[in-house]
Amino acid sequence: MLERKNIEIDKEMKPSALLEDVINYQTDPVILLERLDGDDLFVIEANTAFVELIHNSKSFVIGQHLDDVFYQCDETWLKKIKKIDQGHSSGKFEAYSKIFNTHFELRYAYTKDNQFLVQFRDISDFKKEQKRNLRLTNLYRSLRDISRITRMYTDRKKLLSSAADILVKNQGYYSINILLLDSWGKIKERISAFSESEDLEFENVDWSKLPCLKKLAKGVNLLYTLNPSEECPGCPFLETYQNRSAIVTSLKYRNINYGAIIASCEIKETESTEEKDLFLEIAGKLAHAIYISNENILTGEEDRKAYYDRLSKQNAQLLDLNQQLENLSQELLAAKQKAEESEKLKSNFLGLMSHEIRTPLNGIIGFAQLLSNNSLEPSKIKEYLGIICESGNNLLKTLNNVLDFSKLESTKVELHADNLEPELLCRELFAEYSLELKNKNKSGVELFYECSLDELNQEIQLDSVKLHQIMRLLLDNAVKYTEEGRIDFGIKQKEEELIFYVKDTGIGIPDDKYEIIFERFSQVDSSSTRPYGGAGLGLAIAKALADRMNGEILVESEVHAGSLFQVVVPFSSTGNEPAQKDSRGNHSDVKVLIVEDDIYSAEYIIEVLESMGREAYWVKNGKEAIAYCKTKTDIGLVLMDIQLPGVSGEQATMEIRKFNTKLPIIAQTANAMIKDREKYLAAGCDDYLPKPIAFVDLKNVIHKYL
Ligand code: ADP
Repeated sequence: MLERKNIEIDKEMKPSALLEDVINYQTDPVILLERLDGDDLFVIEANTAFVELIHNSKSFVIGQHLDDVFYQCDETWLKKIKKIDQGHSSGKFEAYSKIFNTHFELRYAYTKDNQFLVQFRDISDFKKEQKRNLRLTNLYRSLRDISRITRMYTDRKKLLSSAADILVKNQGYYSINILLLDSWGKIKERISAFSESEDLEFENVDWSKLPCLKKLAKGVNLLYTLNPSEECPGCPFLETYQNRSAIVTSLKYRNINYGAIIASCEIKETESTEEKDLFLEIAGKLAHAIYISNENILTGEEDRKAYYDRLSKQNAQLLDLNQQLENLSQELLAAKQKAEESEKLKSNFLGLMSHEIRTPLNGIIGFAQLLSNNSLEPSKIKEYLGIICESGNNLLKTLNNVLDFSKLESTKVELHADNLEPELLCRELFAEYSLELKNKNKSGVELFYECSLDELNQEIQLDSVKLHQIMRLLLDNAVKYTEEGRIDFGIKQKEEELIFYVKDTGIGIPDDKYEIIFERFSQVDSSSTRPYGGAGLGLAIAKALADRMNGEILVESEVHAGSLFQVVVPFSSTGNEPAQKDSRGNHSDVKVLIVEDDIYSAEYIIEVLESMGREAYWVKNGKEAIAYCKTKTDIGLVLMDIQLPGVSGEQATMEIRKFNTKLPIIAQTANAMIKDREKYLAAGCDDYLPKPIAFVDLKNVIHKYL
């Protein structure tokens, strides 16, 4: 550092108090300089703003040579300050200072001979705004000029190079490179324009390595890179263009990308949306011009073909994707509806169930309590017992329906064709439902049946259990929904199909409800004030069973007139004559063996048998049952309970079958599911009576086998 001495500020040099105030009240940095010996300038006074600007203290600044204040600074504004001579009493100039990174407006004014003030006003913001405005004005001008040339030139190359020139000239970019790409994204052509200051050699640049092109290929339309080293790592321009940013825009029209415009410009502090928008508009105009120039970039027929092939492939993929999405959304919608529906059904079901269980229980408990009154007349006792019985039966029906339905829903119930005697079925049902009508006090309803098969005596191969159940469900409904008139049921034959029907003169069903009544938990009247009970399961079960039999249920009805339900099932005849009852021998004196560990159940059966004039043996376990069958020759029928202590009813049956294949064995059990029956028949039982055993059912079985 050159040795320069500070000067002592003598009285002569010191500014007046007024001038000192003026300097110190300024918010801009201000210094008062004294010119001594020609060129040497010394600081006489400086305000706080100036001291802060140079990051030093006032004591250092005052009396200091100007060159020492701005040590080693050779910026032009400093040179200009030094040249301010007395010839100009005041003046100003603008200058950019690198060391302060600020645009200053420097104002000066002589206060007396050899002394002058310098004020540093920061006008950076203003300058930036001015520059931005200029850039935008230029961009609008470029847009205007480019619009004009797109109308002027039909030659694509000429058009693009003029556009590049316009952008460089008007907008002041260092360079404009327009890259035209083929359908594979490879560079086909490059059209460039450079500013005069541009000295970069572009020929050796590997353009295909530009990361921005990859980004554009992914569908980005505009990249505005303020910090290329971070935003575009791997760009071949990075090293040379350390202090530059770039705007890269795709040349896109109608979704076809023709290439890109790469504009290199100086680093800008802020992004301007206006500039971006204008740039996009210019790119759009050029892309449109390329599109209509007719000179397709896709050179060669093959390229073009490959391009369109690719497009149509993409199109097909998109259509496929669309379809998949469509399917998915439909599936989701269906799943949602199903979930909502099952939620609704669940609450419906719980409501119905609660009602269906409470109502008969109410009857049972209520009348059982009344029965405890000792002074009741015998006729009342009979009446109450009848009500209890009826309520119990209703409860049982509901329970059976729910269990059967859940079984039908969850498992695959198989078809078990066995020999069915239609006439016998009708007779049994007639007996059962005549009693049912009586029990329900429906004396105004008459029951009829007709079995009009071609060959009445033929046995039919059908799943008789399922058919029986369907008919019972239909007859239950007929009884329930008919207050007076008649119920007809029966069997008809139509070619290879059998029609089992139930016809009533009841309340009827509106025709818009024909479908819904076969759905689970659905009823024509689902209001809380509905006059009939029921869980809405009967027809759903009947339909499911008919489906399993490869059949269907048809309904015809008229409101207030009645309904006709027809079960149509395919069948085949066995060609056998039905077994003659007395072929089993003389049954009048034979006994029934009751195998039952529960005393009440056994007593009930004994009572029924006695009422029929039958005698019985009673054993309590499987072992005894086997022994009885071996030793007692007068046993004509076995009523076998299944759940027994020790040897089960099933095992006992299998044992008995080893030495007696003819003896009829009837399983009687509380395992009342459809599948159970099949299991017991497989073990060797001839028939099956679910518990609680209905009086009629027991009688029918005795009649059938003895
Ligand atoms: P529910 O237990 O309610 O009787 P079902 O599934 O057996 O259930 O019947 C469904 C609905 O169909 C009944 O609630 C009733 O509205 C109607 N329905 C069934 N059978 C008859 C019939 N024979 N006469 C009039 N309506 C009937």
